[in-house]
Amino acid sequence: MSEKELREELAAIARDTLRYIERERAAGNDELLAQSAARAATHPAPAPANAAPASASPAASRTSPAPAPRVAVPTAPAPAEVDLFGASIAPPRASITATEPPRLSEMINPKGSDRAALAVDALPILDEVAREARACRKCGLCETRTNAVPGVGSAQSGIVFVGEAPGADEDRRGEPFVGRAGELLTKIIEAMDKKRLIPGVPLTRDTVYICNVLKCRPPENRNPLPHEIEMCSPYLHRQLEALKPRVICCLGKFAAELLVGVKGTIGGLRGRIYRYRGAKLIVTYHPAACLRNPNYKTPVWEDMQLLAREYQTD
Ligand code: URA
Repeated sequence: MSEKELREELAAIARDTLRYIERERAAGNDELLAQSAARAATHPAPAPANAAPASASPAASRTSPAPAPRVAVPTAPAPAEVDLFGASIAPPRASITATEPPRLSEMINPKGSDRAALAVDALPILDEVAREARACRKCGLCETRTNAVPGVGSAQSGIVFVGEAPGADEDRRGEPFVGRAGELLTKIIEAMDKKRLIPGVPLTRDTVYICNVLKCRPPENRNPLPHEIEMCSPYLHRQLEALKPRVICCLGKFAAELLVGVKGTIGGLRGRIYRYRGAKLIVTYHPAACLRNPNYKTPVWEDMQLLAREYQTD
């Protein structure tokens, strides 16, 4: 078996394992899963003399402690250098060499060039979600929208930005983040690319994915209502499932509260790493908040450096 085939096989096993863990968790078996993982760690089963390949029974033979979603891990502060937003930039880390064995998180949510096939696989699902969102009449926003705004970009880089809901410009064009806040988000992505925050991974609106919690504009840009979020969020969850991001960046309170699963201020939620299924997740200020209060640009840039560091580590 070639190294590529082996990696694909391992990635398939890892995906199966994650699905198994998620199924068990959905069935309310977290506790049992955690206990059996702890038992496996302290009493590893002896390997049979002629053991079958791991792929024969991924869930049983490769049970690892369930990745704990929504657990905040404090992170180290970034070293200094000054950038165009006036914030400090961490020096880029060397990318992991090919000789290092792939880790579980990397197999499920690979980085850089390992994502090409995944990006292709994601396309039909993203298209299907977009078709459904455009035809959706579940929450009532369809009555006042011009266009639904499913999302733009690709799974290529493994970075997803999630905002709140389309505004007037987005509603008119059917594309997220194309108004003033969108221009700032585009500049942030371009600055990340220019500063090579993630060496070897081009960052543009095409290589990242950009979407919102709500796919339709609330009238007068009012805040999303709970039942709108409830009706619309399955589209976002399906997009994230297809995109298999390495890092999700929540822009503002509505994305953060939905995907982190706790209520709080951005000031209180940012600066930590959360987990959403297999992905890392960070929280930062919405670009519209930066337009209202330019002092937020510095913490946003620090958050982009955090995103880049976490992208490159397991
Ligand atoms: N604000 C958002 O949250 N999303 C957009 O697409 C535009 C503005």
